[in-house]
Amino acid sequence: MSDRLTIFDTTLRDGEQAPGFSMRIDEKLRLARQLAALGVDIIEAGFPIASDADAEAVRMIATHVRGPVIAGLARCHAADIDRAGWSLAPADRRRIHVFIATSDLHLQRKLRITREDCLDAAVAAVHQARRYTGDVQFSAEDATRSDMDFLCRVIQEVISAGCTTVNLPDTVGYSTPDEIAAFFRAVLERVPNASHATFSAHCHDDLGLAVANTLAAVGAGARQVECTINGIGERAGNASLEEIVMTTRVRADRLPFSTGIDARQIFPASQLLTALTGEGVQANKAIVGRNAFAHEAGIHQDGMLKDRRTYEIMRPEEVGVPQATLVLGKHSGRHAVQRRCEQLGVTLTRQQLDDVYRAVIAHADREKIVSDRDLAAIVANVQGTRQEPAVTPVPTPDFAATPAGYGHGV
Ligand code: MN
Repeated sequence: MSDRLTIFDTTLRDGEQAPGFSMRIDEKLRLARQLAALGVDIIEAGFPIASDADAEAVRMIATHVRGPVIAGLARCHAADIDRAGWSLAPADRRRIHVFIATSDLHLQRKLRITREDCLDAAVAAVHQARRYTGDVQFSAEDATRSDMDFLCRVIQEVISAGCTTVNLPDTVGYSTPDEIAAFFRAVLERVPNASHATFSAHCHDDLGLAVANTLAAVGAGARQVECTINGIGERAGNASLEEIVMTTRVRADRLPFSTGIDARQIFPASQLLTALTGEGVQANKAIVGRNAFAHEAGIHQDGMLKDRRTYEIMRPEEVGVPQATLVLGKHSGRHAVQRRCEQLGVTLTRQQLDDVYRAVIAHADREKIVSDRDLAAIVANVQGTRQEPAVTPVPTPDFAATPAGYGHGV
């Protein structure tokens, strides 16, 4: 089995349908271009039947974005598939993604159809989609809560009908990693023609397990992962692209899989999404959060200044973050205060450093964070009162060099 993972990005579909994340057509096009620069294999650009604007956005992206396969979502309804086919027509490479729920709960309570109706609709949809493209994906919504025998029957039939990717979503984010691994293993063993399709994981983060579940599915044979920038998506979101990709990079010893991602485009993609939607990520979000590479504790700062590997498992530059942030706060040590002063062009005597250090800690007790401006004022105060020589001029700190929305200084 190949060790190449297909990255299926659904930021513009599952992500965009979450409250607060809707985007205009021009904004979707900008983000799609960034996703192409990032190197995702497939961009799920929207759900064309959902609205005229959605169809138009998918068609714009299919017209202007080259590189990734462009995908559109459709229910197993003729009108949905025709609309998706129209929207995707300008693309060099296009995928129609049809879906239907397979769990008895969804069939009986939501769709109000029988298992046989479900099977017929799935097979008919794949046949219809094949008229527009040879690249057809089928998703069994609520797969992880479906009856295994019925699910395997549906999968076998859609593969026979010409579906090339089978996605098994954990739609409600209910699975655990061991459970989803056993689930994928069982499906791959039981479906006789499973080797004719790529299997895909689509995990939601309701219990905070989306990335762990996705990687467990990969360990059990899935070779496509569905994910989003910043992990956005319905409810608690989808598996985060940046976390999946960087886990395979940093822990290649445990997860020896390659992707086509240019990791240096991860942070720019995260920042662009934040700028377009006005929704930032939490400060402690892995990989892309403001604090993801920030070190405030004195012992950590001291270790970082001596050898970054002491507290850093990946370089911020690898994911496009300009540099690690040493935040001056009440946990900072003398070493960090001295280094920041040096970076600002200030040379301090031993006594001055002691005074500045005490003032920094006192300031941090009141204000939490000590900005470069605060530090400059403290230094001026200390140097002014003691009137000692051996001081080089203080150049104005280049505040503009700190990227918007990231870090407080260094
Ligand atoms: Mn979803």
